[in-house]
Amino acid sequence: MNTVPEYQHFIDGRWTAGESGEMTGVINPANREVVARVALGTRGDVDQAVLSARRAFESGVWSGKSVEERAGILNNMALLVMVNKDKLAGLESLCSGGTIRRTSTVDIAEVAASLVMTAMFIKEMPRVEHGLCLPWVLPMHSYWKREPIGVCAGITPWNFPMILAAWKFAPALAMGNSIVLKPAGITPLTALELANLAHMAGVPAGVFNVVTGPGPLVGNHLAAHPEVDKISFTGSTEVGRQVAHLAADGIKRITMELGGKSPLIILDDTDMEVAVNISLYAFLFNSGQACESGTRVFVPRHLQQELVERMIEKIKKMKTGNQMDPATDLGPIASEAQLKTIINYVETGKSEGAQLVWGGSRLSGPEYDRGFFFEPTIFMNCHNKMTMVREEIFGPVQCVIPYDDQEEAVAMANDSVYGLGGGICSTNVARAQKIAARLRTGTVWINTWHALRPDAPFGGYKQSGFGRENCYHALLAYSEVKHVCQDLTPEAGEKFFNPLIGLK
Ligand code: NAD
Repeated sequence: MNTVPEYQHFIDGRWTAGESGEMTGVINPANREVVARVALGTRGDVDQAVLSARRAFESGVWSGKSVEERAGILNNMALLVMVNKDKLAGLESLCSGGTIRRTSTVDIAEVAASLVMTAMFIKEMPRVEHGLCLPWVLPMHSYWKREPIGVCAGITPWNFPMILAAWKFAPALAMGNSIVLKPAGITPLTALELANLAHMAGVPAGVFNVVTGPGPLVGNHLAAHPEVDKISFTGSTEVGRQVAHLAADGIKRITMELGGKSPLIILDDTDMEVAVNISLYAFLFNSGQACESGTRVFVPRHLQQELVERMIEKIKKMKTGNQMDPATDLGPIASEAQLKTIINYVETGKSEGAQLVWGGSRLSGPEYDRGFFFEPTIFMNCHNKMTMVREEIFGPVQCVIPYDDQEEAVAMANDSVYGLGGGICSTNVARAQKIAARLRTGTVWINTWHALRPDAPFGGYKQSGFGRENCYHALLAYSEVKHVCQDLTPEAGEKFFNPLIGLK
């Protein structure tokens, strides 16, 4: 019999069976084979995890540690991530469809770097700041410091499961919080393994918990839970809106990393080879399943044909296939539901008059029939009113939009409810920087794409969310500021407020 690994929740420092005892299969999107079974979480499991996180937080077992101790444990964990990189990358690729070439290099490095950089930032952050108290002629001393918020909930999507989990637990733990993580239902394995590694690295029991299960049940209950103080959500704008409503009821702190439809503006002075490569990388990384994918390419009208032809020539040489094969360039789509979404958008694009010049179909053949594979797809002569151009597809579909002058391109690029990423291809740095200043997006890349770094803030404008992950900005988002003000006048009669209410 074919046995697959079984994963329970990770609660209170140990593998913990769910209260229902029910398990669900996690499948490989390349062939639909079940690669693991995980606990199907319930509200009761969430309650248990949150209770454990609350207990650990209130005990001070983690929040009471010194910054150096917490930073040391995060560095230990980074080492454990590197030691276990083959296992983590293998699990990540198996259930998300991300190519093993990428998960074993970029993704592992990003998780380890997030831990190391966060440990560095926490040590560099001022512990206590003192006020000058200039308006106060009275002898008073004010200081303020950052404190953990309490119990944080991290809700994450399926496209880069371990990186997006690390972007939440690294800063949450660094600031002394406890966390309950709820990974996406189809890609829960690496979050569970990372919680176990955190425990092995020295994070005390109850500080880092993972509950698996369906979003509308487990995620919803976690977001609404009265004992959760902060929610950090990464996912679609639609679900983010629901989570924000739940958070508002409890006045919880929130960070929202949501959808995108990021514009790339190719200027007429561009190096065409650079523009062609970026136009491809922007929408094909992780088979287009990246929130900051560049999926609207604005190109001078006279360059459109050349751009598209050269993109197609390069696509012909790319290999779509089994993500576990190091020779594969593009893996499968993560789920059947997502594949259907992509197919629907492509059909809508065709019916609205976009010109399909490459791809547009599900891949078929012995290598593809059992999985969820879609061809890299390019539409040209698109315009901003098309559904496919306005909405996030989350698949390998590029919309090329011709423009006649630069002002028109900037206006169209900004004409979106989203504001996550944006980019410019140009050989004129000063010109590119002027446009960068005008793009209403949280990140702008000049002559590159997808360059996210743990030492630079990442987040969205407009309906792409608010708050920032990474860098010291993430540490601010996982902390409260406490002002302590001490009056140094010893005598009751000298207090500044006496005359204000007639005290003697
Ligand atoms: P999703 O919104 O469907 O799910 C995200 C998470 O929310 C999952 O863990 C899911 O189980 C959970 N969830 C679902 N319904 C819920 C509910 N009612 N209450 C609470 N939790 C619930 O997103 P997805 O399909 O997993 O991921 C794709 C989306 O994520 C895209 O829109 C993409 O742009 C976005 N994304 C954004 C970023 C970013 O940093 N801005 C990064 C990656 C992905």
